[in-house]
Amino acid sequence: MKTYARVVVIGGGIAGCSTLYHLTEQGWHDVVLVERDELTSGSTWHAAAQVTQFGTNQTMVALKKHSINLYRQLAADEEFPIDYHITGGMRLAHTQDQVDTYKYFIGMAKGMNVDFEYIDAHEAGRRHPLMKTDGLLGAWWDPLDGDIDPAQLTFFAGAPRPKGRGRGIPLQPGGGHHPQG
Ligand SMILES: Cc1cc2nc3c(=O)[nH]c(=O)nc-3n(C[C@H](O)[C@H](O)[C@H](O)COP(=O)(O)OP(=O)(O)OC[C@H]3O[C@@H](n4cnc5c(N)ncnc54)[C@H](O)[C@@H]3O)c2cc1C
Repeated sequence: MKTYARVVVIGGGIAGCSTLYHLTEQGWHDVVLVERDELTSGSTWHAAAQVTQFGTNQTMVALKKHSINLYRQLAADEEFPIDYHITGGMRLAHTQDQVDTYKYFIGMAKGMNVDFEYIDAHEAGRRHPLMKTDGLLGAWWDPLDGDIDPAQLTFFAGAPRPKGRGRGIPLQPGGGHHPQG
């Protein structure tokens, strides 16, 4: 069993597997992931699975934009396609304060080439016909809102892959995982 590593990531949920994935993508191969049970055996496997770009500051929007770009690549992977659906989604505004705030965030995101849209109540009702629009002033629309299978995503980042680029992590005695360099 491996006794030394440059980085030891503890926990095989999305946070640990994503850390492992991104480190190995950056060329860090001496990285071990330790999971006490099975990958996704924590809260990740039953996550609500929503994927959104909504964010109230540039750091959050940039992180989510990165995730969405990655998920699109993963969904298109012929070897290991992941269930990913882009549906669009909205945050509702019932007060003028919310309208002003949403418009501010939409403007902030435009500078990052993220195309959010402010839509009025009529258009919100058109895009979601099952929704009651009484008292609604408008909505913040994210064209890339959607959902992805959290367990598949975690296994992608953490499990061995035949043609992986150094991020496969075979189970080691004692539950450790390490990337195949
Ligand atoms: C695609 C996706 C969509 C999501 N959508 C939503 C959403 O719409 N709404 C929402 O609220 N949340 C959402 N989430 C978040 C989700 O609900 C969880 O909060 C998140 O997945 C937790 O991840 P985690 O890695 O921090 O924890 P966990 O998944 O709990 O992973 C922790 C792991 O660490 C292991 N572990 C713990 N202690 C040790 C130890 N001492 N040694 C070894 N291993 C240990 C556990 O066994 C477990 O496997 C989403 C997550 C994903 C991935």
